[in-house]
Amino acid sequence: MADNEKQHWADLIAEQIIKERGKKTKYVCAAGITPSGTVHIGNFREIITVDLVSRALKERGKNARFIYSWDDYDRFRKVPKNMPKQELLQKYLGMPIVDTPDVFGCHKSYAEHLEKELEDSLPATGIKPEFIYQHKMYRACKYAEEIKYILNKKNEIKKVLDKYRKEPLPEDWFPIGVYCEKCKTDNTNVVEFDGNYNIKYECKCGYSNEIDFRKKGIVKLSWRADWPMRQHREKVDFEPAGKEHYQQPGGSRITANETYSVLYKDMKHPLDLKYDFVIVKGIGGKMSSSLGNVITLKSCLEIYEPEIVRFLFAGTRPNTEFAISFDLDVIKVYEDFDRLEKRYYNNEAYGKDKRIYELSCIKLTKKQPKRIGLRHLTMLVQIHKDIKKISKNKDVLKRAELARKWIEKYAPDEFKFKLHDKTPQEVIKRLDKKQKESLKLLKEKLEKKKFSEQELFNEFYEICKKVEINNAEFFKGAYLALIGKEKGPRLASFILAIGKEKAAKLLNEIR
Ligand SMILES: [Zn+2]
Ligand SMILES: [Zn+2]
Repeated sequence: MADNEKQHWADLIAEQIIKERGKKTKYVCAAGITPSGTVHIGNFREIITVDLVSRALKERGKNARFIYSWDDYDRFRKVPKNMPKQELLQKYLGMPIVDTPDVFGCHKSYAEHLEKELEDSLPATGIKPEFIYQHKMYRACKYAEEIKYILNKKNEIKKVLDKYRKEPLPEDWFPIGVYCEKCKTDNTNVVEFDGNYNIKYECKCGYSNEIDFRKKGIVKLSWRADWPMRQHREKVDFEPAGKEHYQQPGGSRITANETYSVLYKDMKHPLDLKYDFVIVKGIGGKMSSSLGNVITLKSCLEIYEPEIVRFLFAGTRPNTEFAISFDLDVIKVYEDFDRLEKRYYNNEAYGKDKRIYELSCIKLTKKQPKRIGLRHLTMLVQIHKDIKKISKNKDVLKRAELARKWIEKYAPDEFKFKLHDKTPQEVIKRLDKKQKESLKLLKEKLEKKKFSEQELFNEFYEICKKVEINNAEFFKGAYLALIGKEKGPRLASFILAIGKEKAAKLLNEIR
């Protein structure tokens, strides 16, 4: 146990896979989802979990394949509330998601829109799965053999599922859905199966037909049979699943594992892992899963470096719930990451800690990347309209963009300011005699001498002593003169960031 605690969870799982699945030329790790609504950051947890485990396998010299299945041949069950054109979408309920139109008007279908939203964000995080589009597989009749096999085993599957049901499934139940050739929905019933490749179906719309599912890709296995089928076909060794799939009684992962064991004897069902939810913090009324307003990977990448997104997930065990912050804690997350990075490059990070850093990196660099803390950057981006004035380093500039986004979209008001071009008269009127006197003194000092941050900080207190002004009143006066607010960023570092000439010029207005 003590040994285990030293190891990172992804390494432990990788080792368990190798041990339990035996020697293989390739280990298959899988994830997947039905693109029925926005693919959010909670769904991303499954993807990064598989990525981290695949990476741990590769680092052990193993060949790992990471497949991601888009279940886009599932029926469109429910219109999420965050989608435009609700009425239009209602008309497609019961049809394959892939045949539902893109209500944003930019992709071939609703499914493709949601798929690309994620697929386009993933490369930034260094994650490159092999995507499998289930609608292509089904429509091309690729699963015909599997469907026939499962239809002939339907009673064994029914036995597994009935264990968890109050009412057993009807005797004429079939573990498939058929999309009607006339109305395109799956409001159909299978009335006959010949034990081979032929079924007869009837639709609510009145249409009925007999088809050979080797030739017509309109048959889809029901979810609880589809999952084990795909795992078997792709020879999956490891696939995590969200907590909701483990609900008792008879969560879909529980029945998938049991069904797999009943159907297939040549392999054991894949190793699984239950992962918990991700909460989002600090976006006010913006997020509600019932409203479908959820945070995507893309919105996280607007304010977090990809390495830090990885750091958040790699640093938390999958079975633990955690929050991604958009409020002030963003600064703390950056600080935690920077501290770990520093320890890593100083050879002061060990064991699990060291692994968390390695797994957070998309590519480990020999040299420590140049960093400016996010807190300081939020100040710099508000001083300089042109971000390039901040630094020439591309890592710093990348972070500066994120700092600017955070200020624009999420930062609390006390973080925001606008540096005066010229101190306005109405602000000067608000300053009392002692404030004016102390600021004049500060101006003179700034014109005369170079300061380090600490020296300047000490100087403030010298000035206060000399003028006999309360420290708080002095700072208030300085902030009013510079940004017209009573509070602001730490004054010494702020003045140095503005440039002491520019600060002196602003203070010069005060008479
Ligand atoms: Zn689109
Ligand atoms: Zn029909």
